[in-house]
Amino acid sequence: MNQQNPLLADWAAPFEVPPFDAIKPEHFGPAFDRAFADHLREIDAIAADPEAPSFDNTIAALERGGKLLANVGSVFFALVGAHSNDALLEIEREIMPRLAAHSNRINMNGPLYARIMALHERRASLGLGAEQARVLDRYRIKFQRAGAGADETGRKRLAAIGERLAALGTQFSQNVLADEQSWALVLDRDDDLAGLPDHVRASAAEAASERGHAGKHAITLSRSSVEPFLQTSRRRDLREKVFRAFVARGDNRGRTDNQPIIAEMVKLRAERAKLLGYQTFAHYRLDDAMAKTPQAARGLLERVWAPARKRALADRDAMQELIRAEGGNFTLAAWDWRYYAEKLRKQQCDVDDAEIEPYLDLENMIAAAFDTAHRLFGLEFRRLDGIPVWHPDVRVWDVRGADGRHVGLFFGDYFARASKRSGAWMSTLRDQEKLAGDIRPLVFNVMNFSKPRDGQATLISFEDARTLFHEFGHALHGLLSDVTYPMIAGTNVETDFVELPSQLYEHWLETPEVLRKFARHHANGEPMPETLIAKLKAARTFGQAFKTVEFTASALVDLDFHSQATVDDLDPAAFEAATLKRIGMPDEIAMRHRSTHFGHVFAGDHYAAGYYSYMWSEVLDADAFDAFEETGNVFDPATAQRLRDDIYAAGGSREPDDAYKAFRGKLPSVDALLRKRGFDKVAAV
Ligand SMILES: [Zn+2]
Repeated sequence: MNQQNPLLADWAAPFEVPPFDAIKPEHFGPAFDRAFADHLREIDAIAADPEAPSFDNTIAALERGGKLLANVGSVFFALVGAHSNDALLEIEREIMPRLAAHSNRINMNGPLYARIMALHERRASLGLGAEQARVLDRYRIKFQRAGAGADETGRKRLAAIGERLAALGTQFSQNVLADEQSWALVLDRDDDLAGLPDHVRASAAEAASERGHAGKHAITLSRSSVEPFLQTSRRRDLREKVFRAFVARGDNRGRTDNQPIIAEMVKLRAERAKLLGYQTFAHYRLDDAMAKTPQAARGLLERVWAPARKRALADRDAMQELIRAEGGNFTLAAWDWRYYAEKLRKQQCDVDDAEIEPYLDLENMIAAAFDTAHRLFGLEFRRLDGIPVWHPDVRVWDVRGADGRHVGLFFGDYFARASKRSGAWMSTLRDQEKLAGDIRPLVFNVMNFSKPRDGQATLISFEDARTLFHEFGHALHGLLSDVTYPMIAGTNVETDFVELPSQLYEHWLETPEVLRKFARHHANGEPMPETLIAKLKAARTFGQAFKTVEFTASALVDLDFHSQATVDDLDPAAFEAATLKRIGMPDEIAMRHRSTHFGHVFAGDHYAAGYYSYMWSEVLDADAFDAFEETGNVFDPATAQRLRDDIYAAGGSREPDDAYKAFRGKLPSVDALLRKRGFDKVAAV
């Protein structure tokens, strides 16, 4: 039977890429069964080893185990995120609690925990290298945080909580997906298109035909469809419709209602934290992050909130003035913000997106991201055909180093489709490691850019180009990884450190060096005029107040949910509203992610009480880019080499503080971030 299940056969494609062309949903059930069983057998053998525990027979053995599960799981999650269907979603609902139960069986295994702790006690005399010492410590922390040290009753309850949270998180993200799939605004009449530039019309035409309305235009609930519409549509009534649907995702009552799911998840997380000896879930979560305490994370957010809010209110008043000057007899609402902000930008900075976007061709922006990696790290990207992929739109590149050595494969999946989750992300089909030989990584990026009609250029906004660089920065973190042990490879680092390589990479997009070369007019290849480049640079901080407010509000709501010591009868909508009221959220700005579609926080545990991480990492990335600018060369080779060695290649082999200090010589202050966002000159409030 294994011969018939491609997931269980040897992967014979070049670079041992998973055989996506042969994999069907029905293969996953038996493959997961076998992968769980194999892994448990490996774990039991390690736990029951009659030999005294050694680093090799315990820690390295754990690191060598679970290969089939890692392979099957990474293929499954690639598909369920980027190209799902009902059969895969059904399997996901079944498999997530089983995966949680499986991790619990390992991480709460008493004899195994005893071996790890015995090693940890003798760690000074084991003759471990720095990376090995770090991996041993990570195992100790992982087991303790899972509850391996709790008593029998506690372990049972923690296991049940983990499984229930996994089921709830899956349901949460499937509800958002269902709400996104079931809604589209079909634009029937010419008048419905008022204000929309050509490329927005083109992608709306593509979205309509994908949804069975060929010849018409449609706006969907993916961010890359919604935001350009809100920014350019002259139809205030339609902007309101789209905006209301966008912020109501997961909040539509009925079958896809995420309110009760949030209430139960927050309650269970608080209980879990308490069982593990923490005051709140936020304390538990941040204990294993760079920030260390909720107070530290909150302190940063509040430091930035005050000047951002002040600046946003001034922008609001300026826009209201614009409306009045135009003869508008209404108060600026949240669905008006992007539209009038664009007008205000035109007025204050003399730039508008319509002028910029013809120069931002997706193909050129991909080339720009690759070229930046070439100039910083010597990487070369060669397009490969004939590699199995999960959808015909996916492209593959062979990545090579300056010495010609194969570094890994990079998969790019750029276009939105109904079978894809919204958002943008990086993940891997295989991580780099050296324990099982010289294993090269298979890394992918998923985006949701609107697909143009056949033969037309894909023009993207500057924000989209920034997202492309962001996710590619994560991809480089995976590709350049140079460690021995899988548990600390690539992006397996603290959540508030993991956004450093991605957000730092965005800085290069904004440099004249990159724009001159790659921002070329899609029709005639002319470079972006120098005057426009200069204006773009001058307009850098425009809109930062809005972005900071929408982000920080989401981050504070997340922290507040998870800073409750006890949770009873939580009403998530009322709770969210109370936080927004407390911080003085302007009515005209919506949270970047309202709770009911806040996948970072509720579609799994990854960013729960951790959404602040983006800003935490930004303190680092703003300061890290200064390191380049201080040399007078944004591609300074010596700085790039340190960046590669200490950050991109180092994975989780060091404490993040130590890794950063190795790169920069010191930890950053918040000043570079305030300067980057243009808040350094906002008077204290
Ligand atoms: Zn990121």
